[in-house]
This record gives sequence, structure tokens and C-alpha cells, in this order.
Amino acid sequence: MKRQAQTAISHEEAARQNEIILRLKDRLKDESLTYFITTFGCQMNAHDSEKLKGILEQIGYVEAENELVADFVIYNTCAVRENAEQRVYGRIGHLKSAKRKNPNMIIALCGCMMQQATVITELKKKHKHIDIVFGTHNLYKMAELLETRLETNHPVYDIWEAHKEIVEDLPSIRKHPYKASVNIMYGCNNFCTYCIVPYVRGRERSRLPVDIVNEIAGLVNDGVKEIMLLGQNVNSYGKNLEESTSFAKLLSMIEKIDGLERIRFMTPHPKDLSDELIDVMALSSKICHHIHLPVQSGSSKLLKAMNRHYTKESYMALVDKIRDKISDVTITTDIIVGFPGEDDRDIEDTLEVIRYAEFASAFTFIYSKRTGTPAANMDNQIPEALTKERFNKILDLVNEMSLKKYHKSCWQDLYSIG
Ligand code: SAM
Ligand code: SF4
Repeated sequence: MKRQAQTAISHEEAARQNEIILRLKDRLKDESLTYFITTFGCQMNAHDSEKLKGILEQIGYVEAENELVADFVIYNTCAVRENAEQRVYGRIGHLKSAKRKNPNMIIALCGCMMQQATVITELKKKHKHIDIVFGTHNLYKMAELLETRLETNHPVYDIWEAHKEIVEDLPSIRKHPYKASVNIMYGCNNFCTYCIVPYVRGRERSRLPVDIVNEIAGLVNDGVKEIMLLGQNVNSYGKNLEESTSFAKLLSMIEKIDGLERIRFMTPHPKDLSDELIDVMALSSKICHHIHLPVQSGSSKLLKAMNRHYTKESYMALVDKIRDKISDVTITTDIIVGFPGEDDRDIEDTLEVIRYAEFASAFTFIYSKRTGTPAANMDNQIPEALTKERFNKILDLVNEMSLKKYHKSCWQDLYSIG
């Protein structure tokens, strides 16, 4: 199969980084150094942090009990909502005094928040104690950036707007022995009007099926039983590959891996969840019957303004279709409250969809205005107090539905045992 430049894996670059890791290992071997990583945000970030951990432990760093006593402190940041950014600023402020006590402490910031020019300007101006800053596209270069920092004794800022290659074959440390996450794609092309992800994670790039299958087979060899496939919109998987394929086909390939017991994935976008995928899930003995299907809002008016490309009715029809084919499916969701232009009727629509879909759980978020997204410039931003009131209303129903589902599933479990 011919590899498209966009998804080419650079084994040469991985080899170069592995050489740097070995060089640092030798250089720091007598220093018994420690690290502490704090991860903000989603599962993608959590998985990225496993890669950072892998590199650091390969160099010889050992995990510290907390960041205040660590020699290398990393914040892997999130930009999806403003409060996560404020928490990072607050915490890097506190690290100033820890660094005064241990002047050799190295502080690194990475991840989505670092892809924003305003953040970089602020860091350079007000947070001169930060040593290393990198973004989402060059995470694999962390050892090289550390080496540069040690050699120059100057702050190292390295932010890329985009990156064509995927660099693999670097060490990674899993949180759980039996469970692992695997990226099947990077970036997003959907540009939901509230969301910063396409700007900070770049355009969609799918990995080749063979590379994904090989990685999972390797993990299974290493004792993994359950994998979580990660992508911002897994339904788009394969569209940018030269030999176009689909997420459902990828799942069928993964299903055949001997020794793998459970397959999960997130996140599918409701606008293009295919019949093919539902059929593959229904017939599979390994794919968990759980779909996280972010609705964001039940109002067709707001869904249009959010650029989601589905309506209240088409979402409900999709839920019906899924339940028809997978009767024991669990559906969970994400909901945003306080999107510009929202009124009481829109909230009623959302409440109706929650009741209809019987979500087993939902992440409910207060809309956060992200500079650079279209929604940030929309008229009719909603006052905070009103959003909170509506948020509580939604949350009450979500909790009620979760409890109902929980009781039902307990009963089902008892029934199947009895
Ligand atoms: N790609 C996934 C999708 O489309 O469902 C979700 C990725 S996003 C990082 C996770 C969730 O964050 C979204 O489903 C949405 O509910 C929420 N989110 C994104 N931008 C937001 C914003 N500006 N304010 C509040 N919540 C937001
Ligand atoms: Fe953000 Fe929408 Fe892409 Fe999800 S699909 S990451 S919400 S732009």
C-alpha cells in the first residue's frame, strides 16, 4: 500500500529521538531525578501524557510524590474551556516558589493551550520561570527540547502550526496493565462553532490500518485485554487515506486480533454514524455496546448555529436505529448549556431529547467563549446567572435518568444472574 505523505510515519525521526533519549540517560545517570506530570482535559491528553511518561522513565526519571518535590514538572494542558486555562495559570504561579527552593527544577508546559499565540505571548511576558513550552504537534520531541534546555540554560519555546508526519516507536507507559488507548486519528475538520480543537489539534489525519492493528497486536502481546480507540470524530476515520476505508472496516480488522477481549471507542459524531458501524457493533462479540454520542443540544436551531449538521429529529431517529439493532446499548452524551442565542424553548428541546434517549450519563458543560471560534463573536451571549439556572435544570434531569438507568441495569444484572 502506498503511504500518503499526510499520514506517513517517520521511523527515522523516532530513531533520532530514541538516540537523544539514550544520550540523556547517559548524561543524567548519576542524578536520581524525579518527574511529575499533571494532565488537564480529555482522554487524548491522558494518552499523550503516557507517551511523555514513557520518554521520561526511559531517560531515568522516576515519578515524584507531588510536583513540589519533582525535578521535572509538566503540565499537559487543555484549551477546550477557559476554566482549565485559568487553573494552569494559577498553578504555574504557585510553582515559582517551589522553583526558588529547587532552582534546578525544570517546568514544561505542553498540549492544546500552548497552540494559542495569546498564551505564548502571556507566558513570555509574565512567566519567565517556565523552561520548556511545546504544543500538540511535536510532543514526541520532548527529550530533544529537554536536551536543548540543559545545554543552553535558556527557555525553549517550540510550537508548530501543523505537522505532516506521525512519529511512533517511542516509549510509552500505560496507566493500566490490561487497558490501553490507541490513537486512530489526529485532529478534526468539523469546526463546530464553539470548539477550539480544530485550531489547536490541526486537520484530520488518519493512521494507516496496518499500523493501528500492529500497535494493538503488540499491546495484546504485552497483556492488554481492552483497548479504547481515540479520535475526535472516529466516523471520519480513513477518509484522508489514499486507499480510503471506514471506521467500521477498521473495527472488523481489530476484532480479529487474537487475545483482544474488549474494544471501545470515542468519539463518534452523530452526523455521520453509519449503518455499517451499527451493524458491525451489533454482530461483534468484542465491541462494547456503549456509544458516547455527543448531542450538545436538543434544539435544531442551536445545532445549526453550532454547525453540527444534524437536527433534534435526526438525532432521535439515530437513537432509535441504534436501539433497534443493539437492544442492550448504553448511550452517553455531552451537552453544552449557555450557547449564544439559547432560550427557554431550546432548553425544553434538550430536556426532551435527554428523556427520549435515556442517556445513562452525560457530561454537561457550561458554554465557554473561546477566542478565535465563530461563536465567540455571535450576538446574544447568555448571562452567567441564567446559564447556571438552566445548567442545574439539565443536570437534575441527567442525574434522574442516570439513576433510573443504573437501577435498571442493576435489575438486569440480578435477573441475568438469577
Ligand atoms: N470530538 C468530540 C465531539 O465532537 O463530540 C468532542 C471533543 S470536545 C474536546 C469534548 C466536549 O467538550 C464536546 O463534546 C463539547 O460538549 C465540549 N466543548 C467543546 N467546546 C466547548 C466550549 N467552548 N464550551 C463548553 N464546552 C465545550
Ligand atoms: Fe470540536 Fe466538533 Fe471537532 Fe468535536 S467534532 S472536536 S466538538 S470541532
